[in-house]
Amino acid sequence: MSVLDIRVLGDPVLRERTTPVAAVTDELRALIDDMFETMYAAEGIGLAAPQVGRSERVFVADVDGTPYVFVNPEIVSSEGLDRAEEGCLSIPEIFGDVNRPDWVHARALDRDGNPFEIEATGLLARCIQHELDHLDGKLFIDYLSLLKRKFVMRNWEREAAKYPDFIRRLDPATASQTAERTRSRRNRPRDDGEQGQADPTAPPFEPEL
Ligand code: ZN
Repeated sequence: MSVLDIRVLGDPVLRERTTPVAAVTDELRALIDDMFETMYAAEGIGLAAPQVGRSERVFVADVDGTPYVFVNPEIVSSEGLDRAEEGCLSIPEIFGDVNRPDWVHARALDRDGNPFEIEATGLLARCIQHELDHLDGKLFIDYLSLLKRKFVMRNWEREAAKYPDFIRRLDPATASQTAERTRSRRNRPRDDGEQGQADPTAPPFEPEL
């Protein structure tokens, strides 16, 4: 498994539509494995193919210790409304509140090419919608008000200087250790036992997808 370079805002690949996958092959599975490794190394909860410079209609997600692969995903239906803060591995250090349906019914192919359906709420529902947007060249900042977006873009101008050629390269010396740590942390049951009852000593949770 390899940790891939993450493309950041400004790379045209993030604005391109992806191409449906014709067949789930070993090559695609290798890409999926690398995407998981990259997502965990960057401590993200979701990662879509364009974020690693690829055009396949694929994303991976893991919000609570359950890894999901979505090949050729589509949202069948969605309901409700939820407002929450989002970030993106392709726009590091930038966050903003986004309104989205809080329940989705989606279908896709899994890692073996078998169709599956999923009904999701909360963070997973948000993650599925954020990643599906990536596959259509859409980013969470597109949902922000004009004023908020201007503010965010001013901050991004400073951040972007850290990423020559719009490439975010994770340190190869520490990436696989970080990936391993993220994996085991996700698999651990939450100490508080209940969502929303966060440990006050824990750093604020800012999901990057
Ligand atoms: Zn994203």
